[in-house]
Amino acid sequence: MSQRIFNFSAGPAVMPEEVLKQAQDDLWSLGKSGIGVLEHSHRGKAFSSVLQSAIADCREVGGISDDYEILFLSGGASSQFYMVPMSFLTKADTADYLVTGAWSKKAVADAKRFGQVHVACTSDDKNFSYIPETANYSASPKYVHFTSNNTIFGTEFRADPQPPQGAPLICDASSDIFSRPIDVSKYGLIYAGAQKNLGPAGATLVIIRKDLVEQASSDLPVMLQYRTHAKDDSCYNTPPAFTIYAMGLVFKWILKQGGLKGMAARNEDKASKLYGFLDKSRLFRGTAAADSRSLMNVTFVTGDAKLDEEFIAFAKERSFDGLKGHRSVGGMRASIYNAFPPEGVDALIAAMQEFEDSADRAGRIPS
Ligand code: PMP
Repeated sequence: MSQRIFNFSAGPAVMPEEVLKQAQDDLWSLGKSGIGVLEHSHRGKAFSSVLQSAIADCREVGGISDDYEILFLSGGASSQFYMVPMSFLTKADTADYLVTGAWSKKAVADAKRFGQVHVACTSDDKNFSYIPETANYSASPKYVHFTSNNTIFGTEFRADPQPPQGAPLICDASSDIFSRPIDVSKYGLIYAGAQKNLGPAGATLVIIRKDLVEQASSDLPVMLQYRTHAKDDSCYNTPPAFTIYAMGLVFKWILKQGGLKGMAARNEDKASKLYGFLDKSRLFRGTAAADSRSLMNVTFVTGDAKLDEEFIAFAKERSFDGLKGHRSVGGMRASIYNAFPPEGVDALIAAMQEFEDSADRAGRIPS
């Protein structure tokens, strides 16, 4: 078997090794069933038990009460960009959006098809390198939508936004779900594509308050109504069974690591080492404002596009993959989600130091 390397991909991303090993066994035969996990009917006992455990463990990880449904939907987090406004907005209604990056902008674009959008704050003026401190909400928004972690720009909300009384808070948590403790009761709906912190691509976790399931429009195609999936435990049609199974294993892994408190400690430790290095470096510097830095996606540059490219090639030779930054920011991005191993961060810092020293010797540190 070829050796595994450090994978800094923004998603699909690294998964816990013990989850991959368990999945290898279960691909052949799930438990003693003699049928692999990919081959079980979604209506059979074996998969039902997988699904129910995944739901129960998700509740335990997030401290999610019975006031919320836990759904596994398909169509990616991007489908929530339209499913949310389609469910809750009419042309006469206004929803407030906090615009902190490319994904929020996409969510806004889809919401505008269904109702009025009020941009309560934006960090567009500085290429989304910070999280605005305040928001200017409209009088009575139907809901307030924000992106808790901006995967591309490497920024993350430190505290929950405070929506006006009565307006449900809706969060795209695709790139930081379950990376730290969360008070779900403050939210109306939370959604996250699985492929960063929760498992492989193919399912979107939707945590939705039951009264919102009821309130959502019923004048929609059946598959586009939350109630359809809530009624049938995400099995109205054939669900993304393998992803749900793998997410279930990831939930168990999170619980074994000490739950969300354990995750937060692990993530703070990894990110603070990397930001600590960036703050001292003579060559590399972070692109996100210090008070808005993401613990999940660490974005950085040298200040010289050619040196950035050379560093990415240098890192690739040393078996670090996925470090190229998104084209709208340039430079580098180290995605260090829950499952990313701490020793990978140490190894990256050592490689950055080595590169910096050789750039220094060559007189190539940009002034
Ligand atoms: N929101 C955020 C914050 C993301 O990072 C991404 C994907 N990178 C998406 C939404 C879109 O997710 P999907 O590809 O599952 O539609």
